[in-house]
Amino acid sequence: MFAPLAGRTVVVTGGSRGIGRGMALRFAEAGCRVLVVARAAEAAARTVADIAAAGGTAHPFAADVADPAGMQAMAAEAERHFGGIDVLCANAGVFPSARLEEMTPEAFDGVIATNLRGTFLAVTACLPAMKRAGRGRIVVTSSITGPVTGYPGWAHYGASKAGQLGFVRTAALELAPHGITINAVMPGNILTEGLTGIGPDYLARMTAAIPMGRLGGVADVANAALFFASDEAGWITGQTLVVDGGQILPEASADG
Ligand code: NAP
Repeated sequence: MFAPLAGRTVVVTGGSRGIGRGMALRFAEAGCRVLVVARAAEAAARTVADIAAAGGTAHPFAADVADPAGMQAMAAEAERHFGGIDVLCANAGVFPSARLEEMTPEAFDGVIATNLRGTFLAVTACLPAMKRAGRGRIVVTSSITGPVTGYPGWAHYGASKAGQLGFVRTAALELAPHGITINAVMPGNILTEGLTGIGPDYLARMTAAIPMGRLGGVADVANAALFFASDEAGWITGQTLVVDGGQILPEASADG
């Protein structure tokens, strides 16, 4: 039996839709108070309204994870509104596709700025509150793409997602003396709003590649984040958890 997380304060970057929205809803369902962060204020407010309608507590905040001042303001808002920060889900990310021959330096920098530098900025902004409390949980949303697999068009994305894991490992060493853990979830193919218009053939091909026979749901990733945030996971830091229905397991010759 896991100790309840009720009353904890959780900051979720990229909480307005997709996996982050799933995390925000799941932590709120567990009784946490959630700061839902995204660039688009209205979309963050919609997630907050959905949480409130389900009887939960949340507050929206508009900020860009690539902006240091925005991340400082995000942490200040969590402290002002909720009185502290127990958990950070550093989840915001972008995944524009570009093959190497068409990938501009600006496009490369843009993905790194949001996905990797944004992780660094969100984490460091929330650290003072966690250090004052003498405890904290940080869950970074990486991916299987980059650390484990490759996908044409996503060299910059894969580099950012692999980079997040390097960040996590050294941060874990620096944060351990403060009672703060930092771990990463590595989702496979997750069915988000962004995938719904992609067409049945593509979805069927993606599903066929997953041994568990279905695409992941946002709750699958959120539950892994919830585990890393639990008191019971307090001796786990600098680690990764693949959440992919077994997608990365088959060898090339496996015909299942
Ligand atoms: P999504 O549906 O596109 O949602 C992305 C969220 O991040 C939105 O709330 C978006 O809101 C926010 N966001 C994007 N750029 C931001 C910025 N610069 N500052 C603040 N917020 C920003 O994406 P998703 O599929 O849920 O992906 C979420 C995370 O999971 C990403 O890190 C992604 O790499 C990872 N992931 C996803 C999958 C998958 O299958 N979906 C698989 C592996 C890993 P605004 O646009 O309003 O800012």
